[in-house]
Amino acid sequence: MTESEDKSDSYLRSILKCVRCGTCRSVCPVFDELGWESSGARGRILVAHALSQGMDVDSDVLNSLNTCTTCGLCEQNCPSGAKPPDVIEDTRRQLVLKNKMTDKQAELRENVTKYGNPLAETSDRYSWLGQDSADIKSRAEYVFFVGCLESYRYPEVAKTTFDILKKFDVTLLPNEHCCGSPLLRTGFEADDVTEENIEQIRKIGAHTVITGCAGCYTTFKNDYPDEFNVKHVSEFLADHIDELGLKPLDITVTYHDPCHIGRKHGIYEAPRKVIKAICNLKEMKTVRENARCCGGGGGVLSGYPELSHSIAETRMTEVPEGVDYVVTSCPLCRRNLSQGNKNISVIDLIELVALAMKQN
Ligand code: SF4
Ligand code: SF4
Repeated sequence: MTESEDKSDSYLRSILKCVRCGTCRSVCPVFDELGWESSGARGRILVAHALSQGMDVDSDVLNSLNTCTTCGLCEQNCPSGAKPPDVIEDTRRQLVLKNKMTDKQAELRENVTKYGNPLAETSDRYSWLGQDSADIKSRAEYVFFVGCLESYRYPEVAKTTFDILKKFDVTLLPNEHCCGSPLLRTGFEADDVTEENIEQIRKIGAHTVITGCAGCYTTFKNDYPDEFNVKHVSEFLADHIDELGLKPLDITVTYHDPCHIGRKHGIYEAPRKVIKAICNLKEMKTVRENARCCGGGGGVLSGYPELSHSIAETRMTEVPEGVDYVVTSCPLCRRNLSQGNKNISVIDLIELVALAMKQN
């Protein structure tokens, strides 16, 4: 069997794992909003199957496949062991290879290729660094990979994170590029940008990449060579909790588990350990492996913003009464949840840490 026959055989086997029971309909946040069979995992797998049998691609097909946030709630609850997000991403890839994509997908690809980020930003990625650019050491044990959203939309979070991390032999890439997540999640190859980052990490000689973005984390874990470790900022902070000099705050917060560090990689305890070292934690209605998605992942926030915001609104109804902040540990979740309810402040875990450090 050739490599391509083997791949197509395993793709079909993944599709056929779905026994069409419909269990996933009760958990899919997109099906919950749109209600169409084609907007849930089962429907999308049926679409993938029909495409494998030669069905034509039209805008309904593209919308069915591209409205999945890749949150993994369907996979978590599937009694048959199907992996709908993998099937959906594979199908997106196959369509992109045939040049079948939405205008938004094409725009994303152009932005990352042209500007090195999906936001079409042309300004300096490290403008938040200011006079501290001397802190970029050429050799270090750790690299802090900032990510596009944090660099351009939450520069204060990037600065606070680096200010804390640089005490631990952490440096930055001299010329950071997008990690590739927006391309990889929407069906494109990302070798050009990933290679740029990999080469720089090798030159620095770092054994570990640290990031505060759930999308970057899952991309480094799954799509980069495994020659270096990957840690989420919350894990690094939890490991060094006694060295941070935290002083407790008399507040109560809740925590939103980002799908791409939680369900995908099991990082549940680290952020909670950090929060509990600072203040009270009151959990949301659904947490950990059952946490509902913020609605932003898989290219949905850029491609279908209204849908994305509706999912965020639903997630924000799960915030318990009497909390001062919703804390999360991903800039995309933070951005989308902030749209979901403007009456509650959504902050990054690092901002909570900074508040507790300021008490000293
Ligand atoms: S993906 Fe799993 S839960 Fe959903 S219909 Fe198929 S077998 Fe059932
Ligand atoms: S990954 Fe999430 S959004 Fe996509 S089909 Fe599964 S439950 Fe729905």
